[in-house]
Amino acid sequence: MSQPILPGAAIGVLGSGQLGRMLAIAARRMGYRIHTFSPEQDTPTGQVADLEVAASYDDLDAVRGFARQVAVVTFEFENVSAAAAQAAAEYAPVRPAGAVLHATQHRLREKTFLAHAGFPVTPFRAVRSLDDLHAALRDLGYPAVLKTAGFGYDGKGQVKIAVPDEAESAWQSLGGQEALLEAFVDFQREVSVVAARGLDGAFAHYGVIENSHRNHILDVSLAPPALPPELIAEAVEIARGILEALDVIGVLCVEFFLTRAGKLLVNELAPRPHNSGHLTFDACVTSQFEQQLRAVCGLPLGSTEQLRPAAMANLLGDLWQQGEPAWAAACAFPNVKLHLYGKHEPRPGRKMGHLTALAASATEAAQTVRAARAALAPAHAATQR
Ligand code: AMP
Repeated sequence: MSQPILPGAAIGVLGSGQLGRMLAIAARRMGYRIHTFSPEQDTPTGQVADLEVAASYDDLDAVRGFARQVAVVTFEFENVSAAAAQAAAEYAPVRPAGAVLHATQHRLREKTFLAHAGFPVTPFRAVRSLDDLHAALRDLGYPAVLKTAGFGYDGKGQVKIAVPDEAESAWQSLGGQEALLEAFVDFQREVSVVAARGLDGAFAHYGVIENSHRNHILDVSLAPPALPPELIAEAVEIARGILEALDVIGVLCVEFFLTRAGKLLVNELAPRPHNSGHLTFDACVTSQFEQQLRAVCGLPLGSTEQLRPAAMANLLGDLWQQGEPAWAAACAFPNVKLHLYGKHEPRPGRKMGHLTALAASATEAAQTVRAARAALAPAHAATQR
């Protein structure tokens, strides 16, 4: 096995959002240097990095120049092209490998891989024309969800089809791009497993995290959830199988639907730290970000032990609509931690930060984190004065 990449070395991150920022914070704490690459400047990652390179992902010479200056390249944004990952790999190891990106950045490829490898997935069909869509609807029935095959996240590029009359407008709303149709899952819960795999094949996981979404965007996560141990073990084994099948070196999150019948179905993979794992930053011995760093550097993985039950609530740009949130009001909750990503424009739906609460139980943590978030709204704070 190759030598580990040790503190003092520079880590290259493709992408510059909050995931890179939290990776950078973990890396800097351990004495690594961080370089970030994206088309923007003054980014969440760039603000805490040693070097911020602003260039297009399609500028392969810029990607090569970036990779030449670092010991390893990882990413925090999975829609980097295969060509960019390949260009980087000419000069530094890319972890996880470009093949993992390729498999997971396209919903149809991802679902096809999962289904062929025998992992349980939502029933789906490839759709490349309106005729395909009608045939898929006949197979899968109603309601169903039509999703673009490429470049989708947080519910972007997807539309529900409840009755046959909606099919044509749904197809047109996605602009005739390659798509897939999925049966609509009447789930009881959504859960995720954040896991890591080291250079030596070691596997570590954070158990099951329970997630609730609002407008298709993650709203609140909590851990540990009240679920039977067999179900937790099953979810972890599916995650282990996926990381092994993809030969992941790094962190990968598996998002699941838990059906009303108690069956786990894989919805989506994210080959990087995930929003549902943010609570590991404050609640676990080793956060998902430190774990990513350890994995891509070839260091032993750290303990994933959770020190206290926890819950996380996202802070979206909507919160700024009535003015600057009342930060002091949230800080008045002594067991709540505030994380802000340094983004300048609080657009509705944009992830600007999150809060994590620690408590005696996950339910109590979820109550506390929701109360702390409510206290941030300026109108709410004014009535408390
Ligand atoms: P995605 O971008 O595919 O992760 O979807 C975002 C959210 O939309 C999911 O977390 C679910 O809440 C919902 N969703 C997506 N696909 C389905 C489906 N087939 N059935 C029911 N809900 C879905």
